[in-house]
Amino acid sequence: MEHSYLIKPMLASHYPTAVYGKGIYIYDEDGKAYLDGSSGAVTASIGHAVPEIIKAMTKQAEKISFVYRSQFTTNEAEQLARTLSEIDFIKDGHYSSFFVNSGSEATETAMKIAIQHWQEQGRPTKNKVISRWTSYHGITMGALSLSGHSERRHRFVSLLDDLPTIPAPYCYRCPFNQTYPSCQLKCASDLEAAIHRIGAEHIAAFIAEPIIGAAGAVIVPPDGYYERIKEICDENEILFIADEVMTGIGRTGKTLAMEHWNVIPDIIALGKGMSAGYTPIAATLASEKVLDPILQGSKIVMSGHTYSANPQSAAVSLAVLEYIEKHNLINEAEEKGAYLLAELQKLAEHFSMIGDVRGKGLMVGVEFVSDSLSKTPFPKKLDITNSIVLAARDKGLLIYPASAGIEGGEGDAVIIAPPLTIKKEEIDQLVELFKKTITDIQKSKE
Ligand code: PLP
Repeated sequence: MEHSYLIKPMLASHYPTAVYGKGIYIYDEDGKAYLDGSSGAVTASIGHAVPEIIKAMTKQAEKISFVYRSQFTTNEAEQLARTLSEIDFIKDGHYSSFFVNSGSEATETAMKIAIQHWQEQGRPTKNKVISRWTSYHGITMGALSLSGHSERRHRFVSLLDDLPTIPAPYCYRCPFNQTYPSCQLKCASDLEAAIHRIGAEHIAAFIAEPIIGAAGAVIVPPDGYYERIKEICDENEILFIADEVMTGIGRTGKTLAMEHWNVIPDIIALGKGMSAGYTPIAATLASEKVLDPILQGSKIVMSGHTYSANPQSAAVSLAVLEYIEKHNLINEAEEKGAYLLAELQKLAEHFSMIGDVRGKGLMVGVEFVSDSLSKTPFPKKLDITNSIVLAARDKGLLIYPASAGIEGGEGDAVIIAPPLTIKKEEIDQLVELFKKTITDIQKSKE
């Protein structure tokens, strides 16, 4: 088929055309089934064509699909904001929601709210939002300025602010050549050093993905890391923004991934799982503490999009959240994730090219190396990640290409993050297809 809209050119020549989806499978025009082992881009968290969601979409479409956010609010948007603020882990912070359409908009809005928080208190120099080099916070210019993801960043670097400042808590290849716990969390205390270098009076916030996704293939920090990060932020009057666009709404076995460490962010960016891909919607949640100076000052968050708080998307998001709760999918993600992780870790024993398997809940990263003892990455020109993703797709398995976590983009990795609705026997099928893929790729490298 000729492609008439712009998609990733490298793969465009052999993109299959998706025709329909059912459960965790997507079917192309030849009737070939693909096990959605990555929920698309870690998005389709309840699988495809769920009748309850279709019903909610139809019901809302019959009522009203669009109103402009500066003219009306809707019951659906209000209810969604209430539901999010009632998430147990954060409910004491009295969070309000600012609805947007993508994760990139959610992190940019988080930046703006953080900057405005200090402006409204007469502290306009506190206007930088800093981050980590191994990170991805979105593709728009502001969000890309926050992101260290080299492949997505390099072409636009002259237009971006250099906001990433510190390395990631990447224990597999510690950026400080140390090991946990004797390292005493140098990766966290490095934030303190960076703040002293820049000057806290210039910093509005620090943003981090609780578990690093696209830029690091599921880097889970060591215990104590976020506790220390939050402490440093508080000591320096710097807001802590959790970018939960990939991890939020149950993906890691908790509603919000920060709950794993019981560290409560000041601002939270949500996306992907909020509507499980059925419609575009994302949100920036800001606590009462963050919003108070704005509400007592200019009274307006200086941002907004035509489609913000779209009632159709809000109704879908509510239906998705209800579905997740009704089917206990967050607890299941924890259990099924532990099983998936263990099965993939077993594979690492048989394949020397698997260097590391890491994860939390149904978000697992697999990093590939040319030598597992020295952890040497494959040469970039071999393009191992894409070979694996394409070979898996040929076998009917979808997985997500990711950077390994090495600053500068070297290394190969994939993310495996199936819908939270996946059944145990489907996990077995996923692992089997992945095993066959790696068998073929490893053979081709021998
Ligand atoms: N933040 C994180 C952690 C992400 O993983 C992504 C997307 O992958 C984004 C932000 C950007 O979201 P979107 O692609 O919806 O703009």
